[in-house]
Amino acid sequence: MSHPGAFLDRDGTLIEDVHHLHDPARIRVLDGVPESLLALRAAGYKLVLVSNQSGVARGIFTEAHVDAVNEALQRLLGLRFDAIHTCPHHVDGVVEVYARACDCRKPAPGMLIRAIEALDLDPSRSFIVGDRRSDAEAGLTLGVRGYRVRSGPTANDPDHVGSLPDLAAVVRWHLGG
Ligand SMILES: [Mg+2]
Ligand SMILES: [Zn+2]
Repeated sequence: MSHPGAFLDRDGTLIEDVHHLHDPARIRVLDGVPESLLALRAAGYKLVLVSNQSGVARGIFTEAHVDAVNEALQRLLGLRFDAIHTCPHHVDGVVEVYARACDCRKPAPGMLIRAIEALDLDPSRSFIVGDRRSDAEAGLTLGVRGYRVRSGPTANDPDHVGSLPDLAAVVRWHLGG
């Protein structure tokens, strides 16, 4: 029996987008996020964080910083994700081991594929939500529905077609229809 999955972008979707956030003290959870995650979990969804963190490849912070922020976020939310996937890579990186093309930087689907396999998720009942087009499109080839929210720094992009205001609106819409 497979489960529906909610693939969640972090910066600009669950928390305020602070450029290259690596200090847990600067985490600001956006309005309605804890309640929305609990509603998804109550509806049977596995909660999967999927976050591009190219600051690692760029040498701005380390994977340990990413882990510390994710740990602090879970404490603030009062829940634990069913899985956390982060992409530390970037083709223009300066840290050699991370400076490469990869299959996991969104919009590539690698993080979603790994979670689908590990957690036995049903792509057709799953969705991804993020504040960028690259989030919403990461599940396209897998049949995972994509939603874009206007809660991030790209809120004023002219191409915000079909976006919803925030995570709470996405969850209401998705669970309601
Ligand atoms: Mg984002
Ligand atoms: Zn990657």
